[in-house]
Amino acid sequence: MNGNPDRNKPVCAISKNKDIKQAVFDALSRIDIPDLDGKHVLLKPNIGRNAKMSTGVDTNPEVTEAVFEFLKAKFNASYYIGDSPIMGVKCREAFVNSGHGAFLDRSDIRFVDLDSKKPLTLPITGGKILKEIKVSGFIRDFDYIISIPVLKMHMHTGASLGYKNMKGLLYKREKVKLHQLYVPEAKKAYGFKELDLAIADLARVLEPDLVVCDASYALEGMGPSAGSAKQLDTVIVSTDCLAADIAALAIVKLDINHVPHLMLIAQQKSGVTSITEVATIPEDIEPFKTDFAVPPAEIMIKCCKVNLIDNGSCSACQSSVFLFLKNNESLVGDYFAEYNHFNIAIGSDIKEVPIDTFLIGNCTANHIERGTFLVGCPPSQTIIMETVKKKLADKT
Ligand code: SF4
Repeated sequence: MNGNPDRNKPVCAISKNKDIKQAVFDALSRIDIPDLDGKHVLLKPNIGRNAKMSTGVDTNPEVTEAVFEFLKAKFNASYYIGDSPIMGVKCREAFVNSGHGAFLDRSDIRFVDLDSKKPLTLPITGGKILKEIKVSGFIRDFDYIISIPVLKMHMHTGASLGYKNMKGLLYKREKVKLHQLYVPEAKKAYGFKELDLAIADLARVLEPDLVVCDASYALEGMGPSAGSAKQLDTVIVSTDCLAADIAALAIVKLDINHVPHLMLIAQQKSGVTSITEVATIPEDIEPFKTDFAVPPAEIMIKCCKVNLIDNGSCSACQSSVFLFLKNNESLVGDYFAEYNHFNIAIGSDIKEVPIDTFLIGNCTANHIERGTFLVGCPPSQTIIMETVKKKLADKT
């Protein structure tokens, strides 16, 4: 290991380089990785969506490739790469669209669609809201899991980083369940919302062994899918996920208070809560820091305020809605000019729904009499656009 970090603190290496492969090599070479010879090693990038390279939505394939190259040169292990994307997205397709297509048919690393094997149910001892969780049936095949998230903001969890990326190891709809938990007594008892409690519970059984956080293109603003990419050319590496997540927040001038599930995880594992408790390499991280937009408290687009009613939705419907709003500002403006409101609802727990609301996704079916229902799980942004257009055309 290079440098001389404080041995009582978890170590986190940060590297910045326009040549992102070099940044990954530099950071990985500065931390202690155990001997992985003979082990079964999973690379778990975030490939949850059909997003193009450099958009900050999925992991940059150059980062994933660099992690693999570095490890392969060092350790004679069996390597795997896989993910389980959000509802409505096919794993192979997302790999291709995100630039990871070359990983699908290689002989030196095995691609696994994590949903393609019968799931396992893991008990969660001490879980605050989850007592068990259904995970990928491949989970027992791996000795060492490398979380390779993108540094991105998230409307519902503050940010999506190393721990949040582990949600891709949940089996199919189990990911949706986390967004739809309604346990008011737990929320009241612990003072955190259900989704945050659930992600923290998940960390009790799915702790990554190594985190390589990709901030080559980080996502600011309306994450996890409709924000704006900011090129930072940076990677953050640690064998302590909490340290990596806190360091990633520090470089965008945020702290643990921005991400409730990290506060919970820090409590439950008596882990670090601040960047001052992390031994960073280099010690001075000021040169990496940058201003970064957090998710907006409300959705304003140029013309008007969108009334988004969102309770118990999952990432898939959120993505469709945010991408629709991002890509159809003038259509929403025309609709607003005609109706003087633009109401849109997602999620299974919505309650007060105003008349004339676009009800997005099967979860909203109970409110069908309150507006225009769009079937799907999720309906795509194109279907939303076509439905809004049709409603507008019918009126004018
Ligand atoms: S309808 Fe939307 S919110 Fe409901 S489960 Fe499907 S994708 Fe998730």
